[in-house]
Amino acid sequence: MHPLAKLDHEHVWHPFTQMRDWLKREPIVIERGRGAVLTDVHGRGYLDANASIWTNLHGHNHPKINAAIRRQLGKIAHSSALGFANEPASVLAGKLVGIANPRLPRASFKQPRLSRVFFSDDGSTALEAAMKLSYEFARRSGRSGRSGQPRFLSLEGAYHGDTVGAVSAGHIDLFHRAYSHLLFKTDKVMAPYCYRCPFNRAKPERGDARDCRRCNWECVDKVEKQFEKRAKTKRPVTAMIVEPRVQGAAGVIPQPEGWLKRVAEIVRGHGAQLIADEVMTGFGRTGGVVSGRKDAAPALFASHAEGVQPDYLCVAKGLTGGYTPMAATLTSREVFDAFLGEYSEFKSFFHGHSFTGNQVGAAAANASLDILGSRTSIDARRRLEARFARELESLWESDRVGDVRRIGLIAGIELVKDWRTKEPFDPGAQAGIRVCEAMAKRGVLTRPIGNVVLLMPPYCMTMKQTGQMVAALREAIEDALGRD
Ligand code: PMP
Repeated sequence: MHPLAKLDHEHVWHPFTQMRDWLKREPIVIERGRGAVLTDVHGRGYLDANASIWTNLHGHNHPKINAAIRRQLGKIAHSSALGFANEPASVLAGKLVGIANPRLPRASFKQPRLSRVFFSDDGSTALEAAMKLSYEFARRSGRSGRSGQPRFLSLEGAYHGDTVGAVSAGHIDLFHRAYSHLLFKTDKVMAPYCYRCPFNRAKPERGDARDCRRCNWECVDKVEKQFEKRAKTKRPVTAMIVEPRVQGAAGVIPQPEGWLKRVAEIVRGHGAQLIADEVMTGFGRTGGVVSGRKDAAPALFASHAEGVQPDYLCVAKGLTGGYTPMAATLTSREVFDAFLGEYSEFKSFFHGHSFTGNQVGAAAANASLDILGSRTSIDARRRLEARFARELESLWESDRVGDVRRIGLIAGIELVKDWRTKEPFDPGAQAGIRVCEAMAKRGVLTRPIGNVVLLMPPYCMTMKQTGQMVAALREAIEDALGRD
């Protein structure tokens, strides 16, 4: 075993990992990366097919991001945001506000302008900050019902992070059961999971379940009913938390087009706030264009592709291009103003982290946003998306593939015993894990979510690499799960 693998085995505890299994075999120890390729300590190259857990945008070792970080290191790595401002964080806040407020078509509801940026460290803290802000805002503006206790609503299967507040907003039983006594109560409502929706009357087909579905938007009715139910109690819904256009950790569940807009109308109609968790979907991941725009401006945030502006936009993962941990919660002046007052009123937002507004992260983020907005990157993303879609088509040939759901540069491939029956593999069978292990042997790295294999290429992935990535998955399914 490589000495570094040995050290890992002796001392490192990995997240979301059954360490007994981990200790049975030599781990892949990543030494370097370039573009979409990760190289291990033995010199073996792998395609980074989940963009290093959904963080990487433009590839590893990008010369422009590297240079920006080096330039920043020549000045300072970190100083505190408690009491001081700094150059890259101020510039980044301005840039984020710039891209977070595209011209959207007129809506039947009021669309806020996101003018304030609260920095934190990761996706969980971005959500944690949004929830605390919304909670306080509701109390201070008299919108928290007769009980004075704000209440949150989120989707079935939702995942919004691992801190206690973020876990409370989530509804993945497996992750959350263990901590139930630590958590505060939130409501959940049906997620639009077309492939396994009890209201979808369509027979299984060799096509994306969203497009083949036959239903009457019962999932949206359920949201309306949930709001009505809560409105009759002392605790109406304060805010609804959603991952716009696609739920990631829930199993890559993209929403049928129009779902988000309809739901936003319900949220606004009930005077509640909308918290958009764009930790995974942000920075162009879901493709598409800003709703209603003739110039086909690329949608950098999923919400905007549906013409929706949330009250809180939470970003992390790709914010720095996936280089360093950093997150941001954007919100409106209305929310900001609710925290203004005399010192002695103690209305400040009592929340903050030591590395808030970190200079190295902000410098990386500024460089990443410049790349993201460049013509070269926009064109490359469009080309990659078209090729990705084409390559994925070949997966429908497998009997073990129940659903191939793609949105932009994210795809979830749901593995089943037989596509005609949709019968799922027993979780103990580890179908997803086995397929990903077989992919690793073919030089492609990703992680499954239960029986769903996720593909999320860095934007720099070449056409050839895209073909290799999908071919590795196709072969791995046959290897690990057989044909019939
Ligand atoms: N929200 C979503 C949608 C996520 O996918 C994740 C992480 N996978 C988080 C929040 C939490 O982010 P982090 O792991 O950076 O805390």
